[in-house]
Amino acid sequence: MDFRDTAEDATFRQEVRSFIERELPAEMRAPDDAVLGVGVGEDPRDMEWLKKLATKGWVAPSWPKEYGGAGISMMQQFIYNEELARARAPRPNYLAIGLIGPTIVVHGSDEQKKEYLSGILSGDMYWCQGFSEPGSGSDLASLQTRAVADGDDFVINGQKIWTSGAHRADRMMLLARTDPDAPKHKGISAFVIDMKAPGVSVRPLTNMADMHSFNEVFFDNVRVPKKDMLGELHRGWYVATTTLDFERSGIISAISLQQLLSEIAEATRPFWGSNGGSAAARHELADRAIETQVSVMFSYRVATMQAKGLIPNQEASITKLYGSELAQRIARTGIRLAGLHGQLGPGSPYAPLMGRIERMYRTQVGSTLAGGTSEIQRTIIAQRGLGLPRE
Ligand SMILES: Cc1cc2nc3c(=O)[nH]c(=O)nc-3n(C[C@H](O)[C@H](O)[C@H](O)COP(=O)(O)OP(=O)(O)OC[C@H]3O[C@@H](n4cnc5c(N)ncnc54)[C@H](O)[C@@H]3O)c2cc1C
Repeated sequence: MDFRDTAEDATFRQEVRSFIERELPAEMRAPDDAVLGVGVGEDPRDMEWLKKLATKGWVAPSWPKEYGGAGISMMQQFIYNEELARARAPRPNYLAIGLIGPTIVVHGSDEQKKEYLSGILSGDMYWCQGFSEPGSGSDLASLQTRAVADGDDFVINGQKIWTSGAHRADRMMLLARTDPDAPKHKGISAFVIDMKAPGVSVRPLTNMADMHSFNEVFFDNVRVPKKDMLGELHRGWYVATTTLDFERSGIISAISLQQLLSEIAEATRPFWGSNGGSAAARHELADRAIETQVSVMFSYRVATMQAKGLIPNQEASITKLYGSELAQRIARTGIRLAGLHGQLGPGSPYAPLMGRIERMYRTQVGSTLAGGTSEIQRTIIAQRGLGLPRE
């Protein structure tokens, strides 16, 4: 690819930079949102930021103009994400903006587009994604939650798990089985669920970093009006794969990791002597620094393909696999270089980076599971990228 911006893209990049400089005060820059996923959408100031972005049509700039986006090119979307990541701008409601909104643009009825897209843009409607179930994660198409037609409604029964943000969500994009006799991919439909509907209950799950980010969600005879089906009956799998296609570009986390690594290098410097000496620390940090650059390059590769109208497939899996495993390596490097101090969490005055290294070490365990496990990504790369046989 050509790393230089075209004249038009350079002007756009400058416009984004100047806007951020003018509108995003230092205290609103959230260093860990992209890496740790903490706090996103919980800080009331995030909404102020959303409103400022709205003045430019930049809440969801990738969406077509007619739906409230800015209709910018694929490369400009990438530039926008890159600049916001470098500035550590908050990303409130990113699941709705980045994944669910675009799916509604493609598959939603006119009525759904009107109601839900405006709710996302205004920040009034927070969303979660109800795909995984206790027995269905990697093999998502085996999901068992049932939706049975009854008059003007569908009646939903079943359970979802690992549902990020369900405790704050107003709506869920849900996958449920509508035809139990069809082949598994062909008997699923997608629905929009009102999280306040009678019969929906959310039970918190605490992750191994003692944080509440995901949940179990139970459906007990939940009635969903037929108009809230997203896409066609029994075609929910294809609606879901639209969503997943949006999930894998990776530039925001690649840049966040790069920035975090610089901070880790600075913060752990006082401890290097007691942990193998400066030379060993420098070598380890140099390896990680090169790897973060590789991660950024993988993201550029995906963006370049998209800008050319190509659909990244195994390339997106490579980016996800490499970035999530790198995040774990960076966390391990941080812990190792900080020695015993690295084990101190937020709240301890002796914790380097206010405990963020320890927090990252524990939260990143989930990064090689969320959004498709490393084993699944490797299988995609092996079969679709390298052409290896299925068995
Ligand atoms: C932080 C986090 C947030 C999440 N947020 C959401 C969310 O908001 N909404 C949602 O719906 N889900 C969410 N998930 C769930 C996530 O999508 C699943 O955890 C993931 O798809 C893996 O499914 P599973 O946990 O059932 O593991 P399983 O699929 O049971 O896998 C268990 C192990 O077996 C391996 N394995 C499974 N199948 C194969 C195979 N065919 N070949 C080789 N190895 C295999 C896996 O790689 C893994 O190591 C989240 C998960 C995490 C960790």
